[in-house]
Amino acid sequence: MAAKVRPLIAGNWKMNGLKSAAQREVKKLAGRMRKQGRPGCDVLVCPPAHLLAPLLAAVKGSRIALGGQDCHAAASGAHTGDISAEMLADAGCGYVIVGHSERRADHGESSRNVRAKAEAVHRAGLRAIICVGETGAERKRRQTLAVVGKQLTDSLPKGCTARNTVVAYEPVWAIGTGLTPTADDVAQVHAFIRARMQRRFREHGAGMRLLYGGSVKASNAVELMALENVDGALVGGASLTATDFWPIVQTSI
Ligand code: PEP
Repeated sequence: MAAKVRPLIAGNWKMNGLKSAAQREVKKLAGRMRKQGRPGCDVLVCPPAHLLAPLLAAVKGSRIALGGQDCHAAASGAHTGDISAEMLADAGCGYVIVGHSERRADHGESSRNVRAKAEAVHRAGLRAIICVGETGAERKRRQTLAVVGKQLTDSLPKGCTARNTVVAYEPVWAIGTGLTPTADDVAQVHAFIRARMQRRFREHGAGMRLLYGGSVKASNAVELMALENVDGALVGGASLTATDFWPIVQTSI
């Protein structure tokens, strides 16, 4: 049986949010967390990069961490439009999402690229949230475990620990669609990922947080978060407002 780990509820805002509304939502979330007392989970918001500075001020004194949504593998250089893990650390981030399926699909990122980015996140002293997940077609062909297994092998660098790495299982067909796998399906994939992590990273694999992502909302979060080897959630659409995100946080608090 896997070790009990502190859950992480992470919001991925993608390319959404403008300053004043974003600050308002984060302050509202911080206020609800403050009233609740000491939360039993970690809470993370990954906004677009232009919001990092204003939100750093908004989360001050709260237990909300900030994260980046992607980074370049290099620390600096001639890479127009990119941001490095060191820059995200400098902006106050604690985490960086890498290998999100939207990056893999829209920017042609391979697992090899994802691995290099995860190494960069570790180099900068941050935690990498490494995303894996099968497409709908792959699921129909019953290739879920084969696809996820290969992504894990190829995307996770040496040196992953329970502290510096989080794995997010996000079936591509469930992201932003309102569809979710059954609880049994999620449990099966998470048990598979746990076994793989333990085999490769030993005790670190046992303690590594495994998040589920894909259309998590208040109505399904309780069931999903109660599953064995599900140590939190990566939430897209339902993380954009405190009203939607707070009940999801509360499932793990
Ligand atoms: C995501 O973008 O990682 C995600 C899970 O999105 P959503 O919750 O909107 O499906």
